[in-house]
Amino acid sequence: MSGPPFYPNRSDPSSLRPYTSLMKTIIEPFRIKSVEPIRMTTIDERQNALKKAHYNLFAIPSEDVMIDLLTDSGTGAMSSEQWAGIMRGDESYAGAPSWYRFRDVVENITGMSNILPTHQGRASERLLVEVMIGHGGAGKGKIVPNNAHFDTTRANIEHSGCATIDLLTPEGQDPNSDAPFKGNMDLDALENLLSERAADVPFVMITITCNSIGGQPVSLENMKAVRKICDKYNKPFILDACRFAENAWFIKQREPGQQDRSVEDIAREQFDLCDGSTISAKKDGMVNIGGVLLFRDQEQFVAASNLLILTEGFMTYGGLAGRDLEAMAVGFQEVLSEDYLRYRIRSTEYLGEKLLEAGIQIVRPAGGHAIYIDAAHFCPHIPPNEFPGQTLAVALYEAGGIRSCEIGSVMMGEHAHMELVRLAIPRRTYTQSHIDYVIEIIKEVKANASSLPGYRISEEPAALRHFTAKFEQVVHANA
Ligand SMILES: *Cc1c(COP(=O)(O)O)cnc(C)c1O
Repeated sequence: MSGPPFYPNRSDPSSLRPYTSLMKTIIEPFRIKSVEPIRMTTIDERQNALKKAHYNLFAIPSEDVMIDLLTDSGTGAMSSEQWAGIMRGDESYAGAPSWYRFRDVVENITGMSNILPTHQGRASERLLVEVMIGHGGAGKGKIVPNNAHFDTTRANIEHSGCATIDLLTPEGQDPNSDAPFKGNMDLDALENLLSERAADVPFVMITITCNSIGGQPVSLENMKAVRKICDKYNKPFILDACRFAENAWFIKQREPGQQDRSVEDIAREQFDLCDGSTISAKKDGMVNIGGVLLFRDQEQFVAASNLLILTEGFMTYGGLAGRDLEAMAVGFQEVLSEDYLRYRIRSTEYLGEKLLEAGIQIVRPAGGHAIYIDAAHFCPHIPPNEFPGQTLAVALYEAGGIRSCEIGSVMMGEHAHMELVRLAIPRRTYTQSHIDYVIEIIKEVKANASSLPGYRISEEPAALRHFTAKFEQVVHANA
């Protein structure tokens, strides 16, 4: 991981202790206390596994995966402090000390006191939709704008009959733009939508960082402008804050005037701008399971609490064990460590840099939690209706046991902005040599890309088809 030159200028007498600030290698800011073996597999084994799975990587047993970059969701390593919290967990049905610790941490970070724990992000989304839109077709004729909806967010909103729309800026949709805040919402488009259909919009949502287009951040300036537009039309502003800490780090690095602020401070300002928030703690909460739902409004909070009790559990545990609340309480604090965030964002960028050097097109600049390969560029002989992203994802598994995730026409259907393959980096889980192996395999697949087959879907469910669809290969003449 390159940086400024390692050797200090020895002729400069003022550089008395020059080494610390000139480190060239950003090391993982942790050591490994417990290990989980990786089973090495052969190409034959992997080809068999693919056939059995009908070429759907979600159907591959994880023991047959060597480097699992399917998602950064719930796949991170917990710290020794989090495991200590697990032992401290109190399993009382109501009012456990674990709940109070969790509540205090979340209130401290977000400034919001109407806090509900949920078992994961989509449970928060379901409750949000039921409280703010309704259920059983109540959303018909309505529409929710977002910079770009995450797949479960979109599915939950559309389940109510409500439509969804993504209002990304033109540079957010251009994989070759190096704009610093490609997750920003298109403010003119939002203003237009609200000026024409204000009565149909139950709330405005922004996703930080924007998962669907590459973990790209949203600037404070953009969120402030969205707040203003929401105020003008009297609309609630909801934050999908799964990666609130990574977004705050990007703001500190990239937004003029933010460099001297702490990430806590920036994170807090993000939350101060919104009226409510859904969070999957499986991302920046650094836990394997958990979520949060936040409301500024007391009535909405009470309505959501009642629904939570109906389907998730009592308000002080929300479908989780007390120990899970402890792990979240610690995780939400650890994620705001600047040493951690510097390593986290830099290590993702390192993967992106090496792929660019190898002539592989990725969504630029590197995202926070993932690198997205432009599969249409990688496999130019595969048309979108044969899913170039699926082609590449399957090839990476076949060649190196690497599991990635298609984010293109398979996952997004007609909402696809690009044909992408996401390499999501679990938090604190893989070392630099694992990533170097990934780079090596991708280069090898690239050298053989023209012989890769396309895919067609042979079976699919009604919604979220990428999880369970079955595929067949479409072999091309030159293959
Ligand atoms: C993961 C994610 C969700 C959904 O959270 P789950 O915990 O997987 O249910 C929602 N929005 C974004 C941006 C996400 O990344």
